[in-house]
Amino acid sequence: GRPPRFHRKLVRLGDGGGAPSSPIRVMQWNILAQALGEGLDGFVRCPPEALSWSRRKYLILEELLTYRPAVACLQEVDHFPDTLQPVLSGLGYACHFCPKPWSPCLDVEGNNGPDGCALFFDRSRFELLDSANVRLSAMRIPTNQVAVVTTLRCRSSGRVVCVAVTHLKARSGWEWLRSAQGSDLLRHLQSLPPKTAADPDVPLIVCGDFNAVPTEEVYRRFAASPLRLDSAYKKLSSDGSSEPDYTTWKIRPTGECRSTLDYIWYSRDSLRVDAVLDLPTEEQIGPNRLPSFSYPSDHLSLVCDFSFKD
Ligand code: NDP
Ligand code: CA
Repeated sequence: GRPPRFHRKLVRLGDGGGAPSSPIRVMQWNILAQALGEGLDGFVRCPPEALSWSRRKYLILEELLTYRPAVACLQEVDHFPDTLQPVLSGLGYACHFCPKPWSPCLDVEGNNGPDGCALFFDRSRFELLDSANVRLSAMRIPTNQVAVVTTLRCRSSGRVVCVAVTHLKARSGWEWLRSAQGSDLLRHLQSLPPKTAADPDVPLIVCGDFNAVPTEEVYRRFAASPLRLDSAYKKLSSDGSSEPDYTTWKIRPTGECRSTLDYIWYSRDSLRVDAVLDLPTEEQIGPNRLPSFSYPSDHLSLVCDFSFKD
């Protein structure tokens, strides 16, 4: 049989007040593009059978069904039209996808099309007010990185929230480009028109694989933005002010790579974090790291529950 899935605890953050009746659960997850995992990534400690789409697709869907997020923000999606869109729309999600203009997946023989960012939201909970596929620019020049930006109205409360997903340029040496792309996304979010006269400051949730550690400029720009954002996973730390030790952990021919690159940013004035899903331990992840027969991606999912502040 296959090894068990990770058991992760939902850490409730008891800052006063009782449990909210229906928090908005958000998932951020780079699911690992099938073409990259099999073709370019070089996960030398992962058995090839664990990388087959026939196995991985069930683990990816299980992860989504385990936590049942109201909004799922995914990167490296290269099975949108054939798998994620049909399955998740059957489960009641609205599905949005923005492929990368020059996806590296297309360089892999037998690829399944370009990878990109995808955003799914529960249609029973939200009504779509607006959706935009954004190509991120750096100094006015369009880049190969994208974002999906949606504005949703909560059907029960009538409140409006803007949720965005992005995947910034990978690898070292490109810190300046990530910073420029992040600034472009912030500029785009700042220029969103007010959604209703009664609700001019629409709360924001920005999920992403930023490919940037917390000391990088793009992280500092998000933390210092006039949009007044905070990073939800800091809530897991004992002092509430440091990011987790890792959100991705893999072994390539160049060595082991354990780092924090994925974030869920939120409007700290208008949203409250009610709960955060903890990260699997080193022991759970195992000596061969990720991906594995237990887990289909080299990035861990981030899941948290938000509610509107009064
Ligand atoms: P990125 O550098 O952003 O990386 C693309 C993917 O590679 C990411 O999903 C990233 O995953 C993964 N990756 C990161 N590090 C490694 C590693 N060490 N080994 C293997 N994979 C890794 O790519 P770009 O979007 O800039 O695209 C690059 C490719 O796109 C080029 O190879 C080219 O083929 C194509 N391209 C073509 C253009 C053209 O004009 N024809 C223009 C631009 C790009 P993660 O985020 O998880 O780290
Ligand atoms: Ca990757």
